[in-house]
Amino acid sequence: MRIEALTVAGAVEGLRRKDFSAVELTNAYLAAISRRDHEIHSYLFVAEEIARASAKIVDRGIAEGLPLPALAGIPMAVKDNILVKDLPLTSGSRILEPYIASYDATVVARLKTAGAVILGKTNLDEFAMGSSTENSAFGPTQNPRDTSRVPGGSSGGSAAAVAGDLALAALGSDTGGSIRQPAAFTGVVGMKPTYGRVSRHGLVAMASSLDQIGPLAKNVEDTALVYQAVAGHDRYDATSSEKPVETPSPVSLAGLRIGVPKEYFGQGLDPRLSDTVRAALKKFETAGARVAEISLPHAAEALAAYYIVMPAEVSANLARFDGLRYGFASAPSKTILDFYKDTRDRGFGAEPKRRIMMGTYVLSHGYYDAYYLKAQKVRRLIRRDFEDAFKDVDVLMGPTTPSVAFPFGAKSSDPLAMYLEDIYTVAVNLSGVPALSLPCGTVAEAGRALPVGLQIIGSWFDEARLLGVSKVCESVLGKIF
Ligand code: GLN
Repeated sequence: MRIEALTVAGAVEGLRRKDFSAVELTNAYLAAISRRDHEIHSYLFVAEEIARASAKIVDRGIAEGLPLPALAGIPMAVKDNILVKDLPLTSGSRILEPYIASYDATVVARLKTAGAVILGKTNLDEFAMGSSTENSAFGPTQNPRDTSRVPGGSSGGSAAAVAGDLALAALGSDTGGSIRQPAAFTGVVGMKPTYGRVSRHGLVAMASSLDQIGPLAKNVEDTALVYQAVAGHDRYDATSSEKPVETPSPVSLAGLRIGVPKEYFGQGLDPRLSDTVRAALKKFETAGARVAEISLPHAAEALAAYYIVMPAEVSANLARFDGLRYGFASAPSKTILDFYKDTRDRGFGAEPKRRIMMGTYVLSHGYYDAYYLKAQKVRRLIRRDFEDAFKDVDVLMGPTTPSVAFPFGAKSSDPLAMYLEDIYTVAVNLSGVPALSLPCGTVAEAGRALPVGLQIIGSWFDEARLLGVSKVCESVLGKIF
C-alpha cells in the first residue's frame, strides 16, 4: 500500500473492496510515524494500541457486512488542544502536564462515530498562540516540504502530519489563521468553518469569540468529508448554530463572481506569492469566472483589532490555570497568591505570558474604552465590510499568507514580525465567515518547491458553496504536489 497516494475517499473505497484491512491501514501509518516522525515531530503523543483497537472494530464491521460510515478506518491526527478521552492533553504547554482528558470533545466523539481511527495528538504553539509552532513547550515541528523551515502555526503538527503522510487527515483549530496558515505553508487544504458551525466543546479555549475547529486534508473532497462528520449543532456549545449542515454540491466556474480584495495585495506581500495567486485567478477567469477587484475598507485595521480582542479573551480564559485545578503545580508557597504566581511563572512560556499581560492591560480601568471597546467597534466595521462584499460576489480570493514558509528562528525573536504573518487571516475570524486555504502553486527557493496558499473566503454558513468552489478551483489548477 502506498500511503502517499491515498485519500480519505480512496481509502474507504479500498476497505470496501478489501484491498487492505483497517488494521493494515493503521499499521502503515504507525510505521510511517515511527520511521519518520523523529525528523518532523508532528506528534506529541501517538496512541498505538488504542488506534489498532479501533481499527479492529472497523474490520469486524466490514467482516459482518455492516455499512461503512464516512470515515471508516481513516487514520487521523488531532491537534493537542482538543480533548480525546484517556489521552494526554498538553495544549503545547508545561502547565497542563500530566493532564489526561476525561472525555471526548464533541468533534472527536463525532469522528469516532464516523469510524475514524485516532492516531495521536499533534504539536502546536503553546495554547495555539503563534504562527510557526516554535512556541510549543515541547520543541518545534519541521515542515515536511523543507525541514529547515517552519510548518506554520499554530496547527503546525496537524498540517505537517498530513503533508508528511503521517495521517490521512487532521483536526486543527483556528482563532486567527491557525488552520489556514499552516495548510498554506505545508501545501495541504485547511478550512476554518463559520463561527458556530462546529462545536467548541472540548477545545481548550484561546479566544472564545474567535475559536473554531476545522479539518486539514490532502484535497478538498477529503476536507469536506471530515467537515461533514464534525459540523452541526451541539447542545454543549451555546454558540453552536442549529442551522442544518448542507452537503457540498458541484459548482461551475462559469459566471461565478470572485471578489479580489485589493487590500490583500498591498505592501509586505512577497511578489512571488502575488504573482502565483494572480496566475491562479487568471486560470479561473479563463474557465468562465467573473473576477473583479473589490475593497474591504477596514482590512488595514484587522490585525490591530485582533491583537486587542484576542489577548483580552486569552487573559480571561487562561485564568483557570492556577495549579489547583489542572496539571502542573509549583511547590507550596507561603500564600495562595504566591503559589498562583509561581505556578504560572514556571508553567507558562513567554508568548502566553505576553498575551495575558496585553489582555489584562487592554481590559484595565482607564484603558478599556481606548483599546478594548474601540477594537470591538472596529470589529463591527470589519464584519460590515464582508456583509457589503457578499452583496456583489459569491466568494473572495487572495493570498493566505504574505510569505512562504520561513526558516526556523527568522521571526521568533520579534513578536511583531510573527504577528504580521496573520495579516490576511484574522479578519475572517473577527467577522465569523468561513475560509479555506488551497495550494495554488509553488515558489522555488534553494532547490525546494515551497507551497503557496490561496485563501477562499465564503459568506456566513455558506460552506457548501465554499467547498464546491474550492473543489472546482483545485481541478482547474491541476496537481501541485
Ligand atoms: N497566529 C495567530 C496568533 O498567534 C493565530 C493563532 C490561532 O489561530 N490559534 O494568534
